[in-house]
Amino acid sequence: MDFVIPKPAIPSVAILGQDARFPVRRIYCVGRNYAEHAREMGNDPDREPPFFFSKAADCLVAAGENVPYPPQTDNLHFEGELVVAIGVGGADIAVDKALSHVFGYACGNDLTRRDMQAVAKSRRRPWDLAKGFDQSAICGPLLSVQENGHFEAGQISTRVNGELCQNGNLKDMIWPVQDVIAFLSQSVTLAAGDLIFTGTPAGVGALERGDVCEVRIEGLPPCITTII
Ligand code: MN
Repeated sequence: MDFVIPKPAIPSVAILGQDARFPVRRIYCVGRNYAEHAREMGNDPDREPPFFFSKAADCLVAAGENVPYPPQTDNLHFEGELVVAIGVGGADIAVDKALSHVFGYACGNDLTRRDMQAVAKSRRRPWDLAKGFDQSAICGPLLSVQENGHFEAGQISTRVNGELCQNGNLKDMIWPVQDVIAFLSQSVTLAAGDLIFTGTPAGVGALERGDVCEVRIEGLPPCITTII
């Protein structure tokens, strides 16, 4: 097919141990999925259904790349998160079938312009540009479930310049991965190529130019980013 402008590149994520890459279609994020993080943001944790926001697929940036400090913020925050890669799509996916839709997992960092988000919240405006700015969705290499199975528990930590800032456990998610997939698939039809950032534990904080931010999840390749 001919296009009138150069065809945009397809964003993709590396897969550990494979040359082929995982092409990315959409990026969804869970807004609040660890009780302690909900509290630090001034909210009461509860078992209300999770809520979602999205980032454009081309917000994706690989672990190991330098990320320029974004414009229009003085309070860029890291959010270390487990990323789920969807390998088989579907709508209204049942909780007990949801994990069979997963291709693999990665460590991610949901970069956030926290000051812009606070303004959006206070004025009841969308979060879009507080979350979905250029190079805001950092994702490490995927580990396929065929290689390693699912990640239902395990330490998730974020260090900035070596200092431990976030130290949680995947088992403390308010909604575990299978519930997240089930809920999200009630709102949108998921497809192969979708990524879901599953929320961040407590301890989020600011990044400055020159900082090295390391997100680690037991058993996954780390997601290390330098802000420049
Ligand atoms: Mn997040």
